[in-house]
Amino acid sequence: MQKILIVEDEEHIAEGLRFNLEAEGFEAEIAPDGEIALNLLTTEGKTFDLIVLDVMLPKVGGFEVARTLRKSKNFVPILMLTARSRPEDVLMGFEAGTDDYLPKPFDLSIFLARLKSLLRRQKWTNNNSFIESDIFEINGKTIDFTNLELKTQNETIQLTLMEVKLLKYLIEKVGTPVARKEILENVWDLSEDTDTRAIDNFIVRLRKYLEEDPSKPQILQTVRGIGYKFVKG
Ligand code: CA
Repeated sequence: MQKILIVEDEEHIAEGLRFNLEAEGFEAEIAPDGEIALNLLTTEGKTFDLIVLDVMLPKVGGFEVARTLRKSKNFVPILMLTARSRPEDVLMGFEAGTDDYLPKPFDLSIFLARLKSLLRRQKWTNNNSFIESDIFEINGKTIDFTNLELKTQNETIQLTLMEVKLLKYLIEKVGTPVARKEILENVWDLSEDTDTRAIDNFIVRLRKYLEEDPSKPQILQTVRGIGYKFVKG
């Protein structure tokens, strides 16, 4: 049985989600604040298949919870619950290492669909034509799109789902400049009036992973006034 941790301080929401998750055959546990969630996950070492994480939480906020988990190399899928009016929360959440988000208030069927699709995340890599296998080699490094890993000669780096989605999107458009707002719409699923600078931080990170000299990028090139371009070496 798959186990879900619901980190949510609004009791009626938390209980409602638990009720519905259990009805769907999941095991569900509630943590009413960020501190309790981190205790469960780190000190007590409990494992879950997915975490539903509210942004606004007492004691330790949602972003901090996500950041702490990722820092400690815990890569459990995180579905973040944000306020609808704050697209910047979404970008901050992805920066913190969450995998997907749902603006509140949400429809229960959408919640379950997002959650199940995250649990099946291995499958999303299979439906495109450019990458025939889920392994992609570049610059002597191997990217495993299924396991979200980047392997170099010496180490394996765990990528976040968003890092992989962004990289994959640029790879699919190889050689073509891709505008930042196109990336926001198609990778992040955000409208184009959102601040696009968060993308730049992701590119900086991907360059650190991929480029020999991240200050002189050869693979993820900046296209002035437009966005970015993936160049196959
Ligand atoms: Ca809250």
